[in-house]
Amino acid sequence: MTKAISPRTRKVRILATLGPASASPEMIAKLFEAGADAFRINMSHGDQASKVPLFEAIRGLEKKFGRPTTILADLQGPKLRVGKFADGKVQLVTGHEFILDRDKTPGDATRVELPHREIFEAAHENARLLLDDGKLVLRVLSVAPDRLTTIVEVGGPLSNNKGLNVPDMVLPLAALTEKDRSDLAFAVEQGADWIALSFVQRPEDLMEARRLIGGKAALLAKIEKPSAIARLDEIVEQCDGVMVARGDLGVELPPQTVPPLQKRIVETARRMGRPVIVATQMLESMIESPSPTRAEVSDVATAVYDGADAIMLSAESAAGKWPVESVAMMNSIADAVERDPAHGDRVHFTVLRPDPTTADALAEAAKNIAKTVSASGIACFTSSGSTARRIARERPAVPILVLTPHIDTARRLGLLWGVHAVHTRDVDSFEEMVAKSKRMALRHHIAASGDRVVLCAGVPFKTPGSTNVLHVVTLVGDELKNHPGKEGPDAI
Ligand code: PGA
Ligand code: MN
Repeated sequence: MTKAISPRTRKVRILATLGPASASPEMIAKLFEAGADAFRINMSHGDQASKVPLFEAIRGLEKKFGRPTTILADLQGPKLRVGKFADGKVQLVTGHEFILDRDKTPGDATRVELPHREIFEAAHENARLLLDDGKLVLRVLSVAPDRLTTIVEVGGPLSNNKGLNVPDMVLPLAALTEKDRSDLAFAVEQGADWIALSFVQRPEDLMEARRLIGGKAALLAKIEKPSAIARLDEIVEQCDGVMVARGDLGVELPPQTVPPLQKRIVETARRMGRPVIVATQMLESMIESPSPTRAEVSDVATAVYDGADAIMLSAESAAGKWPVESVAMMNSIADAVERDPAHGDRVHFTVLRPDPTTADALAEAAKNIAKTVSASGIACFTSSGSTARRIARERPAVPILVLTPHIDTARRLGLLWGVHAVHTRDVDSFEEMVAKSKRMALRHHIAASGDRVVLCAGVPFKTPGSTNVLHVVTLVGDELKNHPGKEGPDAI
């Protein structure tokens, strides 16, 4: 039997959401060992104080395992909710009228408060209001300044503060609520590597977040609104990464439109060199059951074949009964797909045109040379991570060993396809870089003695944007022995 691909040489990354089922340091360590590469802290649930131990536990893994960790803090965004009911819950009857108003009095079967002024401004006749993840549908009959009269098209139970989606309206809402601003400041202070913005509607929505983050974290746009699809290229351009947020996307748009959109978003992100995460309901049945449905396995596999950078677990790892098993299952599905000899060709179904820059030309050439000479890996030194991003975008068939003197860069790269980032001391010369790349490739099991590695480098040294050299080296096992840890801590 062949050894399973180690999670660290697996190309697609696994992002696991933490929550009540996975909040202890022991559990987080188990998820990491089962294959989670990065962790998502969801600011929609719980208060800030409850997140502090999560940040600490994730960073604690760095000491335990000697690898950089990656934290994505996900802001709730302008999530819309209805008010409360006198009895906590009502039954909406199909064909009956139902009123949404601005009156805080607890609601009943005929009306409820809608605490979002913007919806009254943007509403129009015939617009749909989707309640509780789209399970209930209301259609607007008439609009008054503080009252929407609707007809119940699909009825059912409705309880306090249920979520609301308004796919037919573009709301004059700021992308960041007061809560988001506070959570963003908190997450940045706690050292989050990525900040995710929910319900992005326009490219401008990202600018404010970018300003508040002040370069201290990378910015991810969750694509879950029809209005974001309408301006997809501009939004992808404005962010550092994207998420195919299929949960809300599949409420705002008919679910059957989600698969083609998933392909389009993944392709757009790859074309523009932004990492892309496929998220939501990937192994949904594993919230309750220790094994997934065949359809879920197939869904995860499809995302891997599409060449997504990362696949995400939500409630499966945050609130389910089988968090570790869910990560292990995702890991083995990814393993099986990446072993398929057809995987490489399928991933390259997306045709990329490199930008006409030296850096992109070299990244593409590194991938091709690695293939031609059957190299075991591609190595690069990077300060900002930009060289690593360009190489990852090419989806080479071998792991990308990224050496960086900046721990922040190493951590951020944890969401990128095929990247094995190592935090290490800087080098001063080309010769030193070559020697160090060889040692690190051996030490991190990217390649073995006798294997070849393609090095991507910049000369003169320490000049950002100077990537202009490709160098093919052959490893000799002794090189590791001769320099036992000469460069000091190679990780953290
Ligand atoms: P959420 O985002 O889990 O924060 O809602 C993901 C999605 O909508 O798919
Ligand atoms: Mn969502």
